[in-house]
Amino acid sequence: MDKRPIASVARTREILNTYNLRAKKNFGQNFLIDVSVVARAAEAAHCEHAVIEIGPGIGSLTEQLALRAAHVRSYEVDERLLPVLREELKDYDNIEIILQDFLECDLEASVSELKNAYGGVNVCANLPYYVTSPILFKLFEGPKDIEYITVMIQKEVADRFSAKPGTADYSALSVEAQCLYKVKKLFTVPRTAFSPAPNVDSAIVQFHRKPDVTADPEFFALIRAAFQQRRKTLYNNLKEYTGSGETAQDILQDAGLESGVRAQELDVNAFHALYDAYRKRNG
Ligand code: SAM
Repeated sequence: MDKRPIASVARTREILNTYNLRAKKNFGQNFLIDVSVVARAAEAAHCEHAVIEIGPGIGSLTEQLALRAAHVRSYEVDERLLPVLREELKDYDNIEIILQDFLECDLEASVSELKNAYGGVNVCANLPYYVTSPILFKLFEGPKDIEYITVMIQKEVADRFSAKPGTADYSALSVEAQCLYKVKKLFTVPRTAFSPAPNVDSAIVQFHRKPDVTADPEFFALIRAAFQQRRKTLYNNLKEYTGSGETAQDILQDAGLESGVRAQELDVNAFHALYDAYRKRNG
């Protein structure tokens, strides 16, 4: 057994050379080459039962997850990586690699199977940047049984997810995520921790599911409408969305909101009140 972690610079280099592998840009491949970063991410991921990973690459994070989890299920879209992962991770008997685009997997069935077998399932991944949002929205709209999602994403996107009301980064994305999760930026990761190095820095973000809330597409549509034109007041955006100034005014009043308020000033609770008032008229 090779004692050097896959994420070490020397072992990564060796693996890439041995298999004559070149990172594919179109699959968002940037491999982590900092053992402390992968170990910290895995340690924070609450992965003692089962863990779902998206995009194992050459297995650097997968290995750290396998050291801590009862079972690791990793979805990888690049078929070149399958023989690499099989060989390099052969000493672990708790890793299952599925060659499939994560966006096409039956997440509901996968989570329920893992939960039944191992008692719990969370997600941990270094996400390919070109599909960060579709992957996260698939997870947000997926089964509530996933309590923790711990992901490495671009730092600016992480800042948007975790932004507080009244800041420039606070957007529909922040509100949607924060309605469903407590969102915490755990730590930033410099671009030098990857090979090849991307053009931007990254951050590890953790989404901790709030109990008893589900993703409601109608609620999300209202949130997006409220932010439709950032410079406009909420009243104006609502007027546009409902097609009536009178309805917009009634909704604001019912939700206990001032007529001159803007969406970016409202916290998650105010958005819940806004949605309740909206539903009364459109339920
Ligand atoms: N986990 C590895 C690491 O940290 O070094 C690799 C991370 S790399 C940023 C993203 C990985 O996701 C690549 O292995 C890529 O092939 C894979 N990937 C890209 N799109 C995917 C998709 N739709 N479903 C599953 N895997 C995907």
